[in-house]
Amino acid sequence: MNITSTYTLNNGWKMPVLGLGVFRATEEEARQAALWAFEAGYRQLDTAAVYGNEGGVGRAIIDSGLPRKDIFITTKLWNQACREGTQEQAFKNSLKLLKTDYVDLYLIHWPVPGRFIESWKVLEKLYKEGHIKAIGVSNFQRRHLEELEKETSIVPAVNQIECHPLLTQEPLVSYCQEKGIVVTAWSPLGGMDSNLIKNEKLNAIGQKYGKTAAQVIIRWDIQRNIVVIPKSVHQKRIIENANVFDFELTSEDMALIHAMNENKRSGADPDNFNF
Ligand code: NDP
Repeated sequence: MNITSTYTLNNGWKMPVLGLGVFRATEEEARQAALWAFEAGYRQLDTAAVYGNEGGVGRAIIDSGLPRKDIFITTKLWNQACREGTQEQAFKNSLKLLKTDYVDLYLIHWPVPGRFIESWKVLEKLYKEGHIKAIGVSNFQRRHLEELEKETSIVPAVNQIECHPLLTQEPLVSYCQEKGIVVTAWSPLGGMDSNLIKNEKLNAIGQKYGKTAAQVIIRWDIQRNIVVIPKSVHQKRIIENANVFDFELTSEDMALIHAMNENKRSGADPDNFNF
């Protein structure tokens, strides 16, 4: 496995195992970070309408000079558009900002109560029209996925969820993987304060392999067959986070990391969010 390795989604589209997240980056930061990431070999970028930086990501796609087909772009439908019933306009706006004629993966950002089934049907339509290569969800719990399965016809290709050593999400990851839904881990390094980087246990494991705590976490995700999208706007860290394909965690070390689970979220709870 290397940085160009992919998972095959449930409709055959291929998704790189590693991507760059750009949450909380300005347009210019996102553009620059994306260019550094491409230089380091990344081929996947993860943005969202609500991040306000799809324009920067779009600029980077053009500035990189890479063929569009070599880049995998994920963006997300924001909650307000789900509530207002303006999903299609929201998608078209994202496409325009991204300066491309399709996205690889379009996700419902949060399971807005009473609204996500309707939103999914819009995504199914856009997918069938060819504007999106694969459709998926984010922050969906098992019960949301079960409701979707009952009410709609396409199984999500991806569920992007908060996942890191303090929130290992074992039951949900197993459920998704049994259903053929690829899991992507958001806030893999613990989110904005990246508190896991200083964690003693992770640093001790890293020392054995000559790797940092960030690299240990990213490698742990990859060995769980989870797509991982660490965010950084610093070139040195972007390179560091991609340098995870030359070592393998032992099953004992994988188990030590799993045992750190505290079911502790850094972000909102999908069963109880108010935005
Ligand atoms: P991450 O867990 O990826 O951590 C990012 C933080 O760690 C940043 O502050 C970054 O700072 C720092 N960092 C990155 N690499 C290193 C390193 N090697 N050493 C030390 N510090 C480092 O947090 P995110 O919350 O950004 O999650 C990743 C991505 O997931 C997002 O960018 C977004 O694309 C997605 N996401 C999706 C959500 C959803 O609801 N679907 C919710 C939240 C995130 P700096 O940039 O200054 O280097």
